[in-house]
Amino acid sequence: MLNIVLFGPPGAGKGTQAEKLIVHYGLKHISTGDVFRFNIKNGTDLGKLAKSYMDKGELVPDAVTIDMLAAEVDRTPDVKGFIFDGFPRTSVQADALDRLLEKKGMSIGMMVALDVADDELKLRLKGRAETSGRADDADPEVIANRIAVYKEQTAPVADFYARQGKLRLIDGIGEIDTIFSRICEAIDKG
Ligand code: ADP
Repeated sequence: MLNIVLFGPPGAGKGTQAEKLIVHYGLKHISTGDVFRFNIKNGTDLGKLAKSYMDKGELVPDAVTIDMLAAEVDRTPDVKGFIFDGFPRTSVQADALDRLLEKKGMSIGMMVALDVADDELKLRLKGRAETSGRADDADPEVIANRIAVYKEQTAPVADFYARQGKLRLIDGIGEIDTIFSRICEAIDKG
């Protein structure tokens, strides 16, 4: 089984690379951002709660996010592995994920972390805002807050996996296919 955490700041290209990775390795993609957006679109209670945080560029509370993630994992038995995208985003979530997988006799194989400089991130998110229809991409203040929240709460998650010898840092600048090759090389090396 191959379980990967795909990691990087907002706009790093996680969604783009995840799409390619699921095809190449036959994995199941779980994006917490996508699940929240699905719930918002369908007007569920979870969606309403998530929206109140996402619109400000804040993180949805850990307990809510962890329960949702666990339910998503449970919904998909018999897979070759998972790509976790946008999760874990805090150290509490990282710990919870380890425990959740352990109960199922699974573990994280590696964290693939996309490295992209701030200026490039802001440019990409501005470009994406024109097509994504995402409220949190449209407002420069919300984007700035997402990047700040990333640095404060999410970046430390990389250390969590580094301590376990599982962190693979990938240069996230370049052509989509070039970055994809870099990721595959890291995964195939193990
Ligand atoms: P991006 O990586 O482009 O910022 P995502 O689609 O992964 O976007 O997430 C969008 C928003 O959803 C986040 O800014 C946050 O509010 C919420 N969210 C997604 N994943 C998590 C998580 N693991 N914990 C808390 N909030 C989350």
